Amino acid sequence: MEYIDLRSDTVTKPTPEMREAMAEAEVGDDVYMDDPTVNKLQEQAATMLGKEDSLFVPSGTMGNLLALLVHCQRGDEVIVGDKSHIYMNEAGGMSALGGIHPHPIKNQADGTLALDDILASIQTEDVHHTITRLICLENTQNVCGGVPLSVEYTQQVGKIVRENNLLFHIDGARIFNAAAALNVSVKELVQPADSVMFCLSKGLGAPVGSMLLGTHKFINRARHLRKMLGGGMRQAGVLAAAGLISLEKMSTRLGQDHDRAKKLFDGLKQVQGLHLDATEGSSTNMVYFNLKDDVKLSVDEIISEMKKRGVLVDWAGPRRFRLVTHYWVDDAGVEKTVKAFGEVLS
Ligand SMILES: *Cc1c(COP(=O)(O)O)cnc(C)c1O
Repeated sequence: MEYIDLRSDTVTKPTPEMREAMAEAEVGDDVYMDDPTVNKLQEQAATMLGKEDSLFVPSGTMGNLLALLVHCQRGDEVIVGDKSHIYMNEAGGMSALGGIHPHPIKNQADGTLALDDILASIQTEDVHHTITRLICLENTQNVCGGVPLSVEYTQQVGKIVRENNLLFHIDGARIFNAAAALNVSVKELVQPADSVMFCLSKGLGAPVGSMLLGTHKFINRARHLRKMLGGGMRQAGVLAAAGLISLEKMSTRLGQDHDRAKKLFDGLKQVQGLHLDATEGSSTNMVYFNLKDDVKLSVDEIISEMKKRGVLVDWAGPRRFRLVTHYWVDDAGVEKTVKAFGEVLS
């Protein structure tokens, strides 16, 4: 069966154009920095995001870890959202591998960290305290509904960073979704940050890979650490070729995914048994919702019933779902999903 797969935008398979580009990619040994396709991808990403340099990495998790390892010494402290991917979903890499101390503060419903909370969490100079080194934001903020953080908010955080001699990393796994939703350039959105990571392998549709961006000095150090972690790849141009299409073509079509997420949200709002909070109406590619208390079926039972109807969905909590639209979900897929939920919950 051809499934409509809404579990994540990570399930996106390469487009036919990507497969063709991959087959024809000019390659070399990227550890020698000899792969022309990787070099082109890195140059293009740096230009698009307005940073000096960039590095192709196997995953977003490795990109974030490299940023943390370059910016921080052992024992340094990092301010992160308590619902951030770096804090919740990267296997504690910063502590395990970097000896870095996370200082989680509350993610507000709109995905931001309150500026007062950030200010209050910066450590004062005291023999008892760690040294606050870095602030991380996540844009879009996944767990808060895939919400985009604005240019203005990011600049406000940037101001705090500069006034307190800190560093600033953006986990921009879905920064292109944020830029599309806000109708601004990615460049503007990441301008105040010292480093940024974004994923090619999510809504941008590439099979593998993420980009890390920053100054030449930062990227040279990150390249060294990437090798240390076993992430030095050889003829990686085969992958970078798909990444170039992500940047050139896929980055301009994300609005379609956002429109379909909105349609999905509006459709599911009509389904009995589902509670869709208006404040959670996604402006990007994610739709989160809860089961009403009177629904007897469990989330797992619903997932299995949906699968029988050709739709794959994933849970986001004991009574909660997250659905994600992407390149391979068309209007018919959205209608099929709403219809299937209607059947399962009737
Ligand atoms: C997916 C994701 C990552 C990590 O990317 P992987 O390629 O899965 O390692 C980091 N941050 C956020 C917000 C993500 O959604």
